[in-house]
Amino acid sequence: MADRTLLRNARVLTCAAGTDEQPRDGDVLIDGNRIALVSPGRLDVDEAATRVVDLGGATVLPGLSDAHTHISWPLDFVFDHDGVAASAPNAHILDVAAVTRTFLESGYTLVIGAGVLQHQDDVLAKDFIDRGLIAGPRIVPSGAMVTEPGAIGADGGLMDVAADAKAMREVVARQCDAGVRAIKLFISGDGIIPEFPSEDTYMNDAMLVAAVEEAGRYGAIVTAHARSAGSVAMAARTGVQLIHHACFVDDLALAALEARRDDVWVCPGLHYLYAMVNGHAEPWGMTSDRLERSGYERELLAMVESLQKLRTVGISILAGGDFGHQWTHHGTYAAELQRYVELVGMTPVEAIHTATRNTGPLVGLETGQVREGYLADLLMVRGDPTTDVGVLMDPARRLAVMKDGVFAYVNAEIYP
Ligand SMILES: [Zn+2]
Repeated sequence: MADRTLLRNARVLTCAAGTDEQPRDGDVLIDGNRIALVSPGRLDVDEAATRVVDLGGATVLPGLSDAHTHISWPLDFVFDHDGVAASAPNAHILDVAAVTRTFLESGYTLVIGAGVLQHQDDVLAKDFIDRGLIAGPRIVPSGAMVTEPGAIGADGGLMDVAADAKAMREVVARQCDAGVRAIKLFISGDGIIPEFPSEDTYMNDAMLVAAVEEAGRYGAIVTAHARSAGSVAMAARTGVQLIHHACFVDDLALAALEARRDDVWVCPGLHYLYAMVNGHAEPWGMTSDRLERSGYERELLAMVESLQKLRTVGISILAGGDFGHQWTHHGTYAAELQRYVELVGMTPVEAIHTATRNTGPLVGLETGQVREGYLADLLMVRGDPTTDVGVLMDPARRLAVMKDGVFAYVNAEIYP
């Protein structure tokens, strides 16, 4: 097969321009695993040496990214973390493979792990995907989540526990030696477990600095579950690269984030909160009583307000967030973008940027833009996601997904 592929007759949304960009008629030439040329109109190529694929006016945009993923949660997951953790590893890892395939087929070519249920899930999946043995996105692999004694998750056996900066260094080094490249810390509570309210903050500056330093030796990033304002401020001032949730952002937290505008990212997980608060989880036992005790309704309002503040000061927001429950099912990942448009007031292109151009710099990959020299990770859809971001949710509109210059998914309904 030719090393060069021409995607002809496309509507190209580069995500390399401003938030007012509209898809334009063009051709995209792929050479090896990189984008060689993005040309308006038709490009002349030597068709004997180039594979030409006519897209019939479909939109080409960068492959999408999700910055808070749990590929450990099987397709039929129902909040039973302990059950999955204790399940037979051989069956479990096949569940994981089904999930990575679902991400890819949903248009996602890059995910960042946010904690696993069996220690090697992310690392094993990444290895098999990178060797072309199973289908899946690029993975920045996480390991077990890290908490401190007495804090959320400390007594369940699912998480690693660090009591101080020294222990933190050891945990981070051990995980990184095993291949982890996204350390996941728990530095606030989570109201869904009422004994650990979201406003509570855990760990301290010394522990976070230790984590960031140690991870840095391996080229790994540190990510943190941080719902309370105190935890957001602490993560921002200690150099944590990826802050999850950031539900409560007070003046102190905002100032700390603003001071690190160029090297901090926030991944809220808005759709998850929205779905919980709107009763989507009720059929699976999340009663209105439990929800009320979680404080999630207030938290959803706070998160929307916080996201407005972050946009105002120019903090990079990343799409992603805890997909894989039955009420936020695997495969519906782009619902996060829909919520950004509906609840936060982003334009569709701004929302798409949270799942494309914003993510590459965090993980040091030239992805998320249809741009010469960038990795050829692309999504092809029928319809215009810049007028209706919901287009990205619809499997029937998904023509194909290219990863690393190769067609990694082709819709068999469209191309039988
Ligand atoms: Zn999570």
